[in-house]
Amino acid sequence: MRRPLIAGNWKMHKTVAEASAYLEDLIAEDLPTSVDVVCCPTFVSLPAAAMVVTGSQIGLGAQNVHWDTSGAFTAELAAPMLTEIGVQWVIVGHSERRTFFGETDETALDRARAGQAAGLEVIYCVGETLAERDAGETFAVLERQTATLGALDPGHLVLAYEPVWAIGTGRTATPAQAQEAHAFLRVRMASIFDGAAADGMRILYGGSLKPSNADELLPLADVDGGLIGGASLDVGSFSAIIRAAADCAAGDES
Ligand code: PEP
Repeated sequence: MRRPLIAGNWKMHKTVAEASAYLEDLIAEDLPTSVDVVCCPTFVSLPAAAMVVTGSQIGLGAQNVHWDTSGAFTAELAAPMLTEIGVQWVIVGHSERRTFFGETDETALDRARAGQAAGLEVIYCVGETLAERDAGETFAVLERQTATLGALDPGHLVLAYEPVWAIGTGRTATPAQAQEAHAFLRVRMASIFDGAAADGMRILYGGSLKPSNADELLPLADVDGGLIGGASLDVGSFSAIIRAAADCAAGDES
């Protein structure tokens, strides 16, 4: 059985002080231990956040990483710089990076490889735009976006299916749409890696996931947790989603 993972992508939100206060409050929530929990603050908050989460169940993630270990890459950060301060996870290929910062399937793969080489667990984002879905191209897009993932270590890879039309829009994939895409991705992982790797890989849903729809999306057979943007910014909402994931895991066991 795959252990649920709930990851918060804070994007460009929260000052250093706000990040620390949030994490202290989250730790005080006495969260279920059956769920892996990761928070991904801004780069500047990571050192303070690392101090707060040390010894807790909260994992720490960055929102990006460069593909080289050092060099003339203004405003970028290398993976060893992240691991040095206690970061364990990194988000790669997020649609906002693809849309606003020129991220491609190639650069996303390079970043993921560098992250894994330094010991980071990679959350690799894929997902179609509304135009692509409407044109019936969802599977073709997912196939293209995952085409090079065979270069990665599946044991340190989490996929995040994030339909672009559902990110930050309040629109959510229906359970049927989410399950269909996740099942497709799992079969795809089996063909790229093998059945055991695909069975063991966590595939997160992302796109306006919140406490009110977590109960519909998290129990789906091929949904192993969530990558949460907006609803992760509030300790109460994020904790509620973590508890919903724990309830699903408990339901699976009984
Ligand atoms: C995200 O940014 O990865 C995301 C899923 O955002 P939201 O939950 O706000 O849609």
